[in-house]
Amino acid sequence: MITFDTKISALTKVGKTTSRRLKKLDINNVWDLIWHLPRRYEDYSIIKNISDLKTNDHTTIKGRIELISSRRSRKKRMNLTECLLSDKSGSIKIIWFNQPYITKQLKNGDEIYISGKVDNDYYNLQFSNPMWEKTNANTIHTARIVPIYPSTNNITQKQIRFLIKQITPLFTTISEWLPIEILKQYDLIPLPEALKKIHWPNNTDDFAAAEKRLKFDELFIIQLIQEKNKSAISSQSAHPIIFQETKTKKLVKSLPFTLTDDQKKCAWEILIDIAKPNPMNRLLQGDVGSGKTVVAAIACLNTSFSGLQSVILAPTEILANQHWHTLQNTLKQFELNIGLLTRSSRQINTDATKITKPKIINKIAAGKLDIIIGTHALLQEKISFKNLGLIVIDEQHRFGVEQRAKLKDKTPKMLPHFLSMTATPIPRSLALTLYGDLNISIIKQKPPGRKKIITKVVSAIDREKAYDFIKNIIKQKQQVYVICPLIEESDKLGVKAATDEYAKLTKTIFPKNKIGLLHGKLKVAVKKEVMNKFKQGKIDILVSTSVIEVGVDIPNATVMIIEGADRFGLAQLHQFRGRIGRSDKQSYCFLFTDNKSQKTVDRLNALVNSDNGLDLAEYDMTQRGMGEIYGTRQSGLPDLKIASLTDLDLIKIAKQAARDIIKNSPDLSLYPLIKKEFELKYHKYHLE
Ligand code: ADP
Ligand code: MG
Repeated sequence: MITFDTKISALTKVGKTTSRRLKKLDINNVWDLIWHLPRRYEDYSIIKNISDLKTNDHTTIKGRIELISSRRSRKKRMNLTECLLSDKSGSIKIIWFNQPYITKQLKNGDEIYISGKVDNDYYNLQFSNPMWEKTNANTIHTARIVPIYPSTNNITQKQIRFLIKQITPLFTTISEWLPIEILKQYDLIPLPEALKKIHWPNNTDDFAAAEKRLKFDELFIIQLIQEKNKSAISSQSAHPIIFQETKTKKLVKSLPFTLTDDQKKCAWEILIDIAKPNPMNRLLQGDVGSGKTVVAAIACLNTSFSGLQSVILAPTEILANQHWHTLQNTLKQFELNIGLLTRSSRQINTDATKITKPKIINKIAAGKLDIIIGTHALLQEKISFKNLGLIVIDEQHRFGVEQRAKLKDKTPKMLPHFLSMTATPIPRSLALTLYGDLNISIIKQKPPGRKKIITKVVSAIDREKAYDFIKNIIKQKQQVYVICPLIEESDKLGVKAATDEYAKLTKTIFPKNKIGLLHGKLKVAVKKEVMNKFKQGKIDILVSTSVIEVGVDIPNATVMIIEGADRFGLAQLHQFRGRIGRSDKQSYCFLFTDNKSQKTVDRLNALVNSDNGLDLAEYDMTQRGMGEIYGTRQSGLPDLKIASLTDLDLIKIAKQAARDIIKNSPDLSLYPLIKKEFELKYHKYHLE
């Protein structure tokens, strides 16, 4: 008897070779085969009269065989089966190559369906190598909507359909795991029916209903994870951080600029949230240069004066350094103890000399440091805090219960408040799926007085002009970034690309200028030195890979060249571009590309015309898909089989359903079937 666990080799017509080939498609048993879903469909459901056929039609005809025979063709040394098929409107020739067995299966007078593409052999219309089936049985290859499956070269669609057909009776025994109320409330069909209809839809309604159900399942599990996470965090305790009104006003007054309304609003949302006795879980989103750091500084100040410690984690050492300097500057008047702890630096306040790692760890444990700045790697260290109140994490979006537990204070029941900051724009559908467990604050405005960056697409012939322009800019004592793409798969860090570009610019293009090189393989001390030199204006042009140093703030850099710009997603290009345009001087971004395709030109022009990161991300999401924007590897996007992270309407429904379930039963104990499915799928969609 065939069950879900039955090995694929036990099915009819699956020998050793076929089962090896199926393995390549990740199909090992019947269950895998059930979930091998069609990639698309051919609609062969409409049966045409032979006399109505036109060249290039993809269609079906039904007719009687007048004549059928096989022979060897002289020219090509292959077997040729020819057939003349008639219906009441006319007749047409059909040819099959190298399928001599067909003459054993079909005889004159048989009635068959033919589905395929209509060709033209100069004189007459004909079908070559079409699908055929006798009309006296349920068809699977012809005269219906025919599923087309993901396949490899060696496995034919016909074979896969034949196998799926064999196991289709099993679909009815698949158990439903969603409660009937959810099916009713959201108009979903039962799972067995959905699988039947996704493989064998009779019409587009069947397909739509099946697709909706299967997409819902995937999105619902993701939302359950989010809602469970949210409810787990909000049921924990945190130290309330009391709003320090006088101190906060003093800080805001001392800034060399006025806060934008959005900065004020976001700071306020954060202050309200951290005053609660449950941990804040919040994402602060703001385009590059929108001024997120000062908002974080306000939160840290309030934490310090509530007698609690804060930690700020940055993705790189350079950024940690930069935050350390910024925070010290911003909070100077309050005489807080601000420490830096990275792989290569341990320091407390600017003037202090370096101290050892055990010493700084002791100080953290003793509560002698108010604010500690480090890299994300700090999470791996065994550090205990006297009283940790707030974690700020820059450019890493996700941070769950487990990670939080790693950075805990000496009161084990207390979780710190959590603020994550990102410049990555988050379309609404993504915000609901990937960050559904977070509250989001958004800084939409840029600080006033910034000039719009002039962006230009530069083709190969205009390269010289751009270089001349840059020579002129350098004469005016302004600085330039050159960003290089990853060209070869083997060069994951872009070291070769950046090094080659550096050599070219130094030797032939700008021999008189000072050029610096930055890539991930350099020693930390070297990187720091290069960045410092650039900051101090001792380097005119900084050549960098695309993979490092997001968030660097060097206002005197006003020009950016992006090599191979077509290789990047728009949101990413927009982030690079955010390195410039940070002062009142006019900034320029040159997108170098040799790709002349209309699609590329259109995409890059979107960047020329828009400086809104969210618009650009939405544009790219529709043009290139999600993985492209966020870089599939780093982003941790869940591997969805059928749903898409852009299905906003369905995402909303799944979210509502998940919210209701978790509200009813936070540990899912009232829903054992959902619980089982959840545990089965958890690791697949878990996003940390
Ligand atoms: P990001 O959001 O990219 O982290 P930063 O916090 O690094 O941005 O801020 C970018 C620059 O803008 C910094 O030099 C900062 O001092 C400055 N800045 C922040 N807020 C304002 C403001 N309201 N007006 C003018 N300049 C500001
Ligand atoms: Mg920043």
